Amino acid sequence: MNAKNTLYIVVPCYKEQEVLPETSRRLKEKMLSLMEAGKISRDSRVMFVNDGSKDETWPIISRLHEQEPEMFSGVNLSRNRGHQNALLAGLLTAVNYADMIISMDADLQDDINAVDAMVDAYHEGYEVVYGVRSKRETDTFFKRFTAEGFYKVMRALGVDIVFNHADYRLMSRRAVEGLAQFTEVNLFLRGIVPQIGYKWTTVTYERAERFAGESKYPLKKMLAFAADGITSFSVKPIRLVFSAGVCVFLVSLIMFIYAIVVKATGHPTNGWASLMASIWMLGGIQLLGLGIVGEYIGKIYNETKRRPRFIIESVLNTAGKADK
Ligand code: UDP
Ligand code: MG
Repeated sequence: MNAKNTLYIVVPCYKEQEVLPETSRRLKEKMLSLMEAGKISRDSRVMFVNDGSKDETWPIISRLHEQEPEMFSGVNLSRNRGHQNALLAGLLTAVNYADMIISMDADLQDDINAVDAMVDAYHEGYEVVYGVRSKRETDTFFKRFTAEGFYKVMRALGVDIVFNHADYRLMSRRAVEGLAQFTEVNLFLRGIVPQIGYKWTTVTYERAERFAGESKYPLKKMLAFAADGITSFSVKPIRLVFSAGVCVFLVSLIMFIYAIVVKATGHPTNGWASLMASIWMLGGIQLLGLGIVGEYIGKIYNETKRRPRFIIESVLNTAGKADK
């Protein structure tokens, strides 16, 4: 068994006051059972990251830390930065103390019993363990359809991601240190983590329903997230635009020849409708192409500014930093 076995469970929280009391109770139970089994050290902690929530989330986290500093720690971000950034802030803070880090959502939709299998896999020598959803019976048809469609589109565009894996995963310290070297501002962690490499495996679990509070990912955010994921990892859309341009050009050549033939044979041209249609269509294709190119330019713009991905206001943790 691996002697270095301090586990940190990093949980990004945005307006999660309804779920935190229950989540912390269940996570504590899980941590204690793992400690008893000798799978993780007594220095292990649950680390809640408050992603700039203005509700009771941070007061609850602070109270948990005060009552049980050996079990709960907290990171308070200076403002809301979104799930991926909050998660990264947690990972990069926890890496100073931990040998392995598990990330999960605050709403316990990810079955925490998969933690045991993840920790076992770590002890077997895996550096990254992806939590994979076996089924999505509790999700609405719409959520399931859009989510699974998303993975398929990503795959088709050549992005290396693990099917039905979100951000529930275990990473060794070495893997998180690898992650720290990816400096991109457009964060799409489930696309970046496979790029780190190392020995990896998956653990399947059933996804449950959010037991309190509501989803912080409405359709609009989900679409934005999907578009971000695609444009951060694949240049295929730009190539598609290029291919479409080539096709349209070929069609226009045929049309040109056709026009000359019609002129030469002396038939009157009465193609007003088709002319109008092609003007609109070409205009549309051009705008679409510009939009896609613009999306990438926007990405470049954001990356060149190199702004910090998060700013930490305070960290609550009694543990000393682990020796490396
Ligand atoms: N979250 C966050 N910042 C945000 C939005 C969400 O830290 O701006 C956290 C949220 O508290 C939860 C996780 O990200 O722990 C996933 O959010 P949610 O459960 O609402 O998403 P869903 O499961 O519906 O996709
Ligand atoms: Mg959720």
